[in-house]
Amino acid sequence: MKTLYRKFINATLLILGISIVIAFILANWVYMTSTKQKIDQQNVKIAREVASSLEHRHTTPHLGFKEYFESVSKLGYQIYVLSESGEEFFFGEPFSDKNLPAEAMKVIEENKIYHGMDDSPSRWLMMSHFANQLENTVGVPFIFDQEKYGLYLRPNNKMLFSDVHVIFAWFFVAVSIVSISGVIWLSKRLIQPITKLTEATREITRENFNYPLNIQRDDEIGQLAESFSTMQVQLQHNDESRKSFINNVSHDFQSPLMNIQGYAELLKTQELDEEHLEYVQIIDQESKRLSNLTKQLLLLTSLDQKSYPMKLGTTRIDTQIKETVRRHQWRLEEKEIEISYHLPPSPILVDPELIMTVWDNLLTNAIKYNQPGGSIFIRIAQNEGCLIITFADTGIGMTEEQASKIFERFYRVDAARKKGGTGLGLSIVKQIIELHNGSIKVESEIQSGTTFTITLTVEKQTEE
Ligand code: ADP
Repeated sequence: MKTLYRKFINATLLILGISIVIAFILANWVYMTSTKQKIDQQNVKIAREVASSLEHRHTTPHLGFKEYFESVSKLGYQIYVLSESGEEFFFGEPFSDKNLPAEAMKVIEENKIYHGMDDSPSRWLMMSHFANQLENTVGVPFIFDQEKYGLYLRPNNKMLFSDVHVIFAWFFVAVSIVSISGVIWLSKRLIQPITKLTEATREITRENFNYPLNIQRDDEIGQLAESFSTMQVQLQHNDESRKSFINNVSHDFQSPLMNIQGYAELLKTQELDEEHLEYVQIIDQESKRLSNLTKQLLLLTSLDQKSYPMKLGTTRIDTQIKETVRRHQWRLEEKEIEISYHLPPSPILVDPELIMTVWDNLLTNAIKYNQPGGSIFIRIAQNEGCLIITFADTGIGMTEEQASKIFERFYRVDAARKKGGTGLGLSIVKQIIELHNGSIKVESEIQSGTTFTITLTVEKQTEE
């Protein structure tokens, strides 16, 4: 995942990169359209002055030709002098490339000024201004001692970079470093509370409403954190009231239901005609279903508590499953369902009472939703520190969409198959398996059968 923090840094670097490119293009454009020409003209002016003061130098002959150019070069120029007879002189910092184009010869031949710093069409980047080439000079003619000369000069690059430029360069580097570090610090400060809020949201889905935020800020994020804390308190309050309501209602339902069941049993012993006996049986069945529903609701609400007090003990789940099968033997026989199993000794650290509920639910469903004369196969396999328990039946099955919802509370596949269920059994199963850090999945095919697969970790739990 691309974090917000990384996105922030990338965006800053991208903006910095784009601004450098745009600034460079703009500066280059200004250089090409005006600066380049101005610099060339300035240098021609300087070259002319240098040449003309040499031409008038015969009045002060104590200073020679070479000494004169030597002292001018010290002012910050690279100089090349070419005489009509082909004599060459270099002064100041040497040129790295000493070639001159034919155009430059016109200085001596036709008295034409050479604009090497402005004219060259190949120089479209401003960096070319600093090229240390003889070609990159301006040239003017002059006469000394009745001989014609060409004077070619350009400013010395080393002189161009004065102390002020170095100070500006450091200034630019310092500004870049400080602003990049500033952006990194600021983005961290902005993103930290968002990360905390994400974690707190995750905790809420795990029913933990006390995740500490500790965000003290005056801005919008601070307001968001404040509203979030208020929401945490409200959610906790709602959750507690919901649980205590279900708890109270389920408890209060139990005793009248027991009474109804008792009276129904009593009525069954009386001599009743067929119609009334059927009514009594319906009352008995429905009150049992209601009683079962309230017990399951009670169990679910207690499993919902963050820290359900599990009473862990090493348990042989193979024995537990065999015991469950024995208890349901009469129902299996009644529906003529054939049951087979492969249950090797499998001790594991679990809450025996809770885990027994799982086997009971899975087997009840495998019988309830089976076809008469169908079969059930139960198996325990051991694999890399895990126990894999499968309950497979050849029952009525479900579609993929139905199977994806069966762990939801109160979900029952369809009205046609209502067989006295509550729709809570599998959500309890899932809750119990998750409390044991295990997992449950279902595979089903309509009219063909259903297989539930439970995976429980052995090592981790036995260490606890
Ligand atoms: P119920 O009390 O209705 O059985 P459960 O939570 O145990 O509630 O199951 C939810 C629904 O999943 C059931 O109503 C049933 O339609 C479907 N179901 C569960 N187990 C099986 C199975 N072995 N074969 C087919 N359908 C099943």
